[in-house]
Amino acid sequence: MKVARQSILAVKPYVGGKPIADVQRELGLTSVIKLASNENPYPPSPKVLAAIAQAARDVNRYPDGNCYELRRVLARRLGVAPGQLVFGNGSDEIIVMAVKAFVREGDEVVIAKPSFLVYGLASRIAGARVREVALKSFRYDLEGMKRAVNKRTKIVFIGNPDNPAGTYVTRQQMKAFLKGVSRDVLVFIDEAYFEYVRAKDYPDGIRLIAGHPNVVVTRTFSKMYGLAALRIGYGVARPSVIGIFNRVREPFNVNALAQSAAVAALQDRAHYAAVADDIEAQRRFLYRALTALGLEYVESFTNFILVRAGAGGTKAAQALLKKGVIVRDMSAWGLKGYIRVSLGTSLENKRFIKTLGLTLSATNRECPV
Ligand SMILES: *Cc1c(COP(=O)(O)O)cnc(C)c1O
Repeated sequence: MKVARQSILAVKPYVGGKPIADVQRELGLTSVIKLASNENPYPPSPKVLAAIAQAARDVNRYPDGNCYELRRVLARRLGVAPGQLVFGNGSDEIIVMAVKAFVREGDEVVIAKPSFLVYGLASRIAGARVREVALKSFRYDLEGMKRAVNKRTKIVFIGNPDNPAGTYVTRQQMKAFLKGVSRDVLVFIDEAYFEYVRAKDYPDGIRLIAGHPNVVVTRTFSKMYGLAALRIGYGVARPSVIGIFNRVREPFNVNALAQSAAVAALQDRAHYAAVADDIEAQRRFLYRALTALGLEYVESFTNFILVRAGAGGTKAAQALLKKGVIVRDMSAWGLKGYIRVSLGTSLENKRFIKTLGLTLSATNRECPV
């Protein structure tokens, strides 16, 4: 099809973590666990499930395009005006909306390398030139990113914490960056893992909006709130910036089940506080277990860990898959020898460690050093 835009042909389609059902079908396995897409390993709380069942009775109607109830509840929770919020079909859609509204063919965006794949993907689809600034010791090099900004730059994407490294930008670093960057550049702070971060010097991006009209902050119900399949996330910015997003937003972009589930999730604080504590404990367990296996990892402020599986990294991911444990091989991110493992339930994490241990000793036997 020659009529497709030239910039589209250079785009590599996104390949996600393999669904459990695919692995069961392809490998004939019955018991498969997925630790590959940073999902919450637990089902939603009973109150959320009840809200979804209730909302299901009305799916003959279009959803509320304004997300009235969710907007009201969330605005109050965040301490922002209702007009400072935009909702998306996942926070991925907010990334796509930003690019649609701000980036023309030939414009530039600045991202970290490696970072969340959707930043580069959405930008390349729009025909943007993507300037990638390498992480330093798995952390953002904001000084370098600032230097990469020029007159053609429209957006700088900052995943905080970012995926796949799992590290975060401190309050001081963020403030220094914002000070030096023109207000004509949209600074897109992606806080998909906000609810997991417990570091004291981690900046709440929403508090930066008052002093910086060019900041947009996104968060999601996919990770901590465990609603990945329903697709719902949101952006927070000045009302004037939200007005721009609303011009490119599709009329019924957030489905009704997602809206009701999100409201119920926000109101079930006790449930999610317990989940957060559990995930924290699981992270500690994995740190200890990985160290015992002699493996290095990057300290994470999210619900996943980047692990250096050594020379047999890619092989390790494949070997784990054959035994029904889905993790992400990081070579597509340019991180050869690394795997990314999402924190699962205690049982899942133990199975991962046990399988990984067996896999590593098998590969070491094959190629002794
Ligand atoms: C998972 C993730 C998202 C959000 O995904 P949605 O499900 O579209 O809300 C955004 N950014 C990063 C860095 C992520 O890892």
